Amino acid sequence: MSPRRTRRSRTGAKSVYTLADLKNWDNETIRLGVFGDPVEHSLSPQMQNAALKHAKIDVQYARFHISAAELQEAITLIRKDEFVGANLTIPHKIAATEFLDHVDDDAKQIGALNVIKIDKGKLHGFNTDGRGFARAVREEFSVDLRDLRVMILGAGGAARAIALECAKSRCERLVIANGTFEKGERLVEKLRSFFEGPKVFGPVPRLQAIPWKEAAFQFQIANVDLVVNATPVGLNRGDPSPLSSRLLAPHLMVYDTIYSDKRTPLVAAAIEAGARATNGLSMLLHQGALAFEIWFERSAPLDVMREAIG
Ligand code: NAP
Repeated sequence: MSPRRTRRSRTGAKSVYTLADLKNWDNETIRLGVFGDPVEHSLSPQMQNAALKHAKIDVQYARFHISAAELQEAITLIRKDEFVGANLTIPHKIAATEFLDHVDDDAKQIGALNVIKIDKGKLHGFNTDGRGFARAVREEFSVDLRDLRVMILGAGGAARAIALECAKSRCERLVIANGTFEKGERLVEKLRSFFEGPKVFGPVPRLQAIPWKEAAFQFQIANVDLVVNATPVGLNRGDPSPLSSRLLAPHLMVYDTIYSDKRTPLVAAAIEAGARATNGLSMLLHQGALAFEIWFERSAPLDVMREAIG
């Protein structure tokens, strides 16, 4: 047995399951879930369960606290127990690609996935973060990525999904700012082919990696429309904003992928600077709706899901 304790809700269902639970799985309705470590704060169960109930699908979605060392076994178990699929969150998105039978093109290019579907005993991997982000930006700011000059903070799993979506949409400019500069450069090189062609925008390159430095940010802010935080900076209480309000400007749209707070440190700094800004709830909603569509091959009840997390 795992030493971890799991909590039970008043209905008898646990709020978090573990690998030990999966090893002796006797729950007849839970056939979907999110694997993560930590996973306690995931809003996916309330969003997906509302959708399942509305669609009259007799399946439930739960949280599973699965460590990195447990991931492979957990995936083997959900295949055996004929789950519909799963979502993956920190720290599994990259590692999971090794354990599946098939990974779709987006997930392959990104090197990370957030959705598993089990179909006739085979495990299929998808990444809905990028497309979810594009829909969120359209919803929040009434604009398409192709019309934007975008600066992404970060070069990890979420940043790579967002950057690929921007590149595929042929956005006007794409700038990657990352602490580990080489990682940002590697991402830029992967996307180079999307930016070849006639579009020219004055003296600034259409695609570039920049160092995590105030002077670099200052220069770029004047040459971008949308700033995206795809780092965890702002997730923990007391975190600073990744960019101070002094660096931000009123012409900007600012999207913080963090959704733990309505007013994340970056959202607060952006509003102080007179910019339009939002947290990452709309991305959570749309990546989840796309996952629902992959699992059930029918459209997701978006309004019901939105209300469940709103
Ligand atoms: P990840 O793969 O671990 O990548 C983290 C990135 O953040 C790396 O580029 C890392 O830079 C950078 N970073 C970490 N700490 C930093 C710091 N103190 N200062 C500057 N940069 C820092 O994580 P991920 O899976 O991409 O997730 C990132 C965030 O996206 C999470 O906070 C999550 O909340 C959010 N997210 C939201 C949604 C949604 O639906 N709204 C979906 C997916 C993810 P280095 O390379 O230098 O280490």
